[in-house]
Amino acid sequence: MDALVIKRPESMNCAARRLRVLGAVQGVGFRPYIYRLAQQYGLVGWVLNDGEGVFIHVEGCLQQLHAFTQAIEPNQPVLARVREVRVVQEHMLAQPAYASFGIVSSVGVGRKETVVPADSHVCEDCLVEMFSSVDRRYRYPFINCTNCGPRFSLIRALPYDRTQTTMTGFAMCAHCLREYEDPGDRRFHAQPNACPACGPQLTLTGPTGDVEQGDAAVATVIEALAAGKIVAIKSIGGFHLAANARDGAAVDLLRRRKRRDAKPFAIMTATLESARRYVQCDAHEGEFAVLARPAHRAASQAAARVTDSDCTWQSEFGRDAGISTASLSFAAGPSTPGLGDDQRQCVRASDRLPQ
Ligand SMILES: [Zn+2]
Ligand SMILES: [Zn+2]
Repeated sequence: MDALVIKRPESMNCAARRLRVLGAVQGVGFRPYIYRLAQQYGLVGWVLNDGEGVFIHVEGCLQQLHAFTQAIEPNQPVLARVREVRVVQEHMLAQPAYASFGIVSSVGVGRKETVVPADSHVCEDCLVEMFSSVDRRYRYPFINCTNCGPRFSLIRALPYDRTQTTMTGFAMCAHCLREYEDPGDRRFHAQPNACPACGPQLTLTGPTGDVEQGDAAVATVIEALAAGKIVAIKSIGGFHLAANARDGAAVDLLRRRKRRDAKPFAIMTATLESARRYVQCDAHEGEFAVLARPAHRAASQAAARVTDSDCTWQSEFGRDAGISTASLSFAAGPSTPGLGDDQRQCVRASDRLPQ
């Protein structure tokens, strides 16, 4: 009988759930990821960073809450390492208390258990922008996004927020702020977001204290490398000491100064293709690709030989390009009209170094 069939109101199925996510979940785009996931499942509530990791409050129908919880780990951002997703609280609701989902202020109290994220190599999306002359971050050495860039090097304290990083002194311009606030943008909530207009600039300091900036600094460094000099490039994770790998005298000088007679150096090339031009790598195809752009400068296991060089030495080989976009600038050279807009020009710029 129809009169006895009582349709269960939607609100009867409504619940609130609190979730604790542990692991490497700060500085990896996790809050914007949770924001999008909550949107996808039609949930309301909030997400925040705290001393233990990420804390989530979601409200919605039970099935969706369950599906949302199940989806967190399998779809996590590329840099994230979820150790555990724990439901810490759940109760039924007459109706949701929130009208939407939001990223709310971090909470600094509580146990400090969250993992400080490592610096990450530049991602493919940022590389495309960096070498596109129409992009506003064309040749910008400090380009980054939610999926890449410095983290460990700039974090002063956790929870991970711009005000707790060395970027706190750089106020985002209107362009960058728009990206930061747009859930559809790949820099949504990217804490180190910056551009040439508002972010840090490349500065060259010489022995006499002379200072150059931007493209002029890049051009001078390339000249110095070509002249056999050693350049210290301050970057994420510390300093790179750079010399022209095809200049035997420069490499010998670096070895003497570092007292590093036999220990291998990393070789930096602008692209995987250019790496193939200069080394004979024993690694098979897949392994060679994995060695490209290592997240950490760990020693790799592929034996390689520099070919176009006086200094032919057998060594362990790890291609280092792109661990730092600042270093990549020197491999790419200053912006030069007419050279073309893609990464091929990096190879050409590198060719300016003596054979
Ligand atoms: Zn990126
Ligand atoms: Zn900006």
